[in-house]
Amino acid sequence: MGGLQHRLGDPGDSFAPEGGQTAGALPSERFLAVTHEVVNQPAELVDYNLYLADRALREAVVREGAAAAEEGLLEFGQRIGRAGYFELGVLANKHLPEFEPSDRFGHRIDLVRFHPAYHALMRTAISEGLHASPWTEPGPGAHVARAARYYLHSQVEAGHGCPITMTFAAIPSLRLQPDLASLWESRITARRYDPSNRPAHEKQGLTVGMAMTEKQGGSDVRANTTFAHPIAARGPGQPYELVGHKFFVSAPMCDLFLVLAQTPGGLSCFLLPRWRPDGSKNPMQIQRLKPKMGNASNASSETELRGALAWMIGEEGRGVRTIIEMVAMTRFDCMIGSSAGMRMAVSQALHHCSQRKAFGRLLVDQPLMKNVLADLALESEAAMVLTMRIAAALDRRADPHEDFLARLCTAVGKYWICKRAPQHAAEAMECIGGSGVMEDSPMPRLFRESPVNAIWEGSGNIQCLDALRAMHKTPMVVQAYFDEVALAQGRHPALDRHILALKSELREADDLEYRARDRIDRMATGLQASLLVRCAPDWVADAFCRSRLDGLGHHQFGALPPGVECARIVERAMPRAA
Ligand SMILES: Cc1cc2nc3c(=O)[nH]c(=O)nc-3n(C[C@H](O)[C@H](O)[C@H](O)COP(=O)(O)OP(=O)(O)OC[C@H]3O[C@@H](n4cnc5c(N)ncnc54)[C@H](O)[C@@H]3O)c2cc1C
Repeated sequence: MGGLQHRLGDPGDSFAPEGGQTAGALPSERFLAVTHEVVNQPAELVDYNLYLADRALREAVVREGAAAAEEGLLEFGQRIGRAGYFELGVLANKHLPEFEPSDRFGHRIDLVRFHPAYHALMRTAISEGLHASPWTEPGPGAHVARAARYYLHSQVEAGHGCPITMTFAAIPSLRLQPDLASLWESRITARRYDPSNRPAHEKQGLTVGMAMTEKQGGSDVRANTTFAHPIAARGPGQPYELVGHKFFVSAPMCDLFLVLAQTPGGLSCFLLPRWRPDGSKNPMQIQRLKPKMGNASNASSETELRGALAWMIGEEGRGVRTIIEMVAMTRFDCMIGSSAGMRMAVSQALHHCSQRKAFGRLLVDQPLMKNVLADLALESEAAMVLTMRIAAALDRRADPHEDFLARLCTAVGKYWICKRAPQHAAEAMECIGGSGVMEDSPMPRLFRESPVNAIWEGSGNIQCLDALRAMHKTPMVVQAYFDEVALAQGRHPALDRHILALKSELREADDLEYRARDRIDRMATGLQASLLVRCAPDWVADAFCRSRLDGLGHHQFGALPPGVECARIVERAMPRAA
């Protein structure tokens, strides 16, 4: 063998084409030419219809009131499931955004350059209305249809979702200041993506970011030190100049930002354009781009506000109240994004294991792997079902039950789903084995993205505290929660026990904050279980209830109890055309 290796390393070695023979070559050299025949490796998971292949999603879309959107979703799922489209996600994360503070003459330009793939993803998202459709075409199923589209697109690439979400979420806050809304809203909601670095008044399509977090405090924005000085009159709709710093400003190429700053009347909310109306650069200066471990295609920056012009939105001193309208929507999108990450992770794991053999059998047929895969699929379906239920609640907010449910369960769902994502991504990666760790697999990107949603827009503890606050301030939200889960009462003993225990726990007033996570965990799994009992096949709901509600709750993925119909759960979630 050593002799052969030596000969093959020699310059001028020649190989016979397969089946042929070079004069003088030994037969063993011919066989070496086929050592790289690839066997037992799955094909790439591309060229499939992301919507058609997702049975649980299709059921949810119809159930939650967006049947009319199905035709469009089928077309969209097909279009973005092509190999070339998935490649956009790869490229946008490989070629990272680059920051140019000034041009070659020294003029400040604060330009972030993105790879064309990022712009292509943004263009699709905006032309599909992911940034605006429930505002421009409100009505039954509007949020559900948008959530389904966002869920599909986020499976291809998650980072571009940040500016899309912020643009979408800004509208409810902006509408609190009708004069500013009438000036900007139509161009924010326009289905036109214009990434050019020029004044907003020259553009027909605008994107919106948010700047709340400062070095000394992100969760506690009351610690903000950025100050807003009135240029003339004070109050809602009036112009101010902002001086201060913002430690996290994502998507700094947005045209407008919602910014929190102190005024004599307290923390207030402002709308800040990147350029002044006279065409000069508004001094919101990017200091640097953050070196992030995930969410790579999306630029996040540190910025200084050096007398930047901005207009007050809403009442002076009510900045948190004003911007919370935006934050509530971004939190909902975190639920969509993490559910989508789980769906792509389990799709990759299922696809791989249905084509890869070990010890003479496909991985998907090995009892222990079947348990792991079914458990991952359950988690993914439960996340999506809860997300779509909240989307439906957003569509029906005129109904108090739906409004209370949206208020409480956006915090509950954002906390729970985003928290479950990293463990889910890691387990899905393990299903793929060593190749799942490699950077040329989709798994590292999914894994690195997975903790982000839990941290921004209110980290885990903040969501739990927010849920407690909602329950304390508006006890009707608790009633709405129990009315909702009670719709499945009597249909699974584990769920009935769970609801009973939860009711008595919520009555205990001791150590409320200390025990908040445990309670919100149980509220989340209780709601997921009740939705699955009502909507999913019995064998899905039963597996979820038995593995999540009894005893100490869920352990590692792959510890489903005996009797679970894993093969059917796996088959239901398998990403292939129905
Ligand atoms: C990729 C990325 C992009 C971002 N983009 C933006 C952006 O565009 N605009 C923007 O404004 N911000 C942005 N952020 C900032 C983000 O919103 C904050 O990081 C987040 O709100 C947490 O704030 P912090 O980092 O200051 O942590 P802290 O507020 O210091 O919190 C640290 C930890 O303490 C916990 N904690 C805080 N208070 C309590 C309490 N009372 N009880 C128990 N636990 C508590 C939190 O849950 C958290 O786990 C971004 C963050 C990331 C990671």
